Order: sequence, then structure tokens, then C-alpha cells
Amino acid sequence: MIKSPCVISIKQTDAAILNMLWDDGHLSPFTLRHLRDDCPCAECKGETVLLHTFHPSPQTEKPGRYVLKSIVPVGNYAIQITWGDGHETGLYAWDYLREICPCDECFQRRN
Ligand SMILES: [Zn+2]
Ligand SMILES: [Zn+2]
Repeated sequence: MIKSPCVISIKQTDAAILNMLWDDGHLSPFTLRHLRDDCPCAECKGETVLLHTFHPSPQTEKPGRYVLKSIVPVGNYAIQITWGDGHETGLYAWDYLREICPCDECFQRRN
């Protein structure tokens, strides 16, 4: 059986980058912009296409949109991210995060 990988550590390395380390040794160097634009909540999903890594929408950009306020673990399967503009309905499940992982290896696997 294949066990789904899960994130064991999350580090913000600078203002715009969130490094997620997986229990299988994989490293996902997410940008905050990417995570926010790929927010899986119902409100955002309407305008975001799955696996879209870059989704510029300056007309909807509010101050703080790409500012990380807090990350809260949800059970052992997901994290909830609160953003600087107050948005907090996005629940990022491990398998979703792995699916949108921006590293070269995953990028090439998808393309
Ligand atoms: Zn959202
Ligand atoms: Zn990856």
C-alpha cells in the first residue's frame, strides 16, 4: 500500500517563501503567492484552475493578500492558512499541497 506523504515541517525562509518538508524527504518551496492563488476554498476555487501555478489577478488584489498571518494544523491531514487580508477559509490538505508542489521534479512530472 502507498501511504500518502505528509508535511512534517514548515519554515518561512523569507517574506515570500514557505518551505515544506515531507516525511519522505521531499521539499516543496512554495511561494506565498502560489499558495494564496491556489487556495482550495470554495470562495477562491471558482476562479482558480487546479494545478495553475501562477494566477495573476491584480484586479482582486487587496493589501495583505500575500502576507502570511498564521498557519494552524488541522488534524493530521491539513493546514489552515490565515492571510493578511483576513482570508482564512482555505484548508490545504497534504495531498493537495503535494499535487501543486512547485519543485522541478513535480513540475516536470506534471508537464
Ligand atoms: Zn480561499
Ligand atoms: Zn515537489
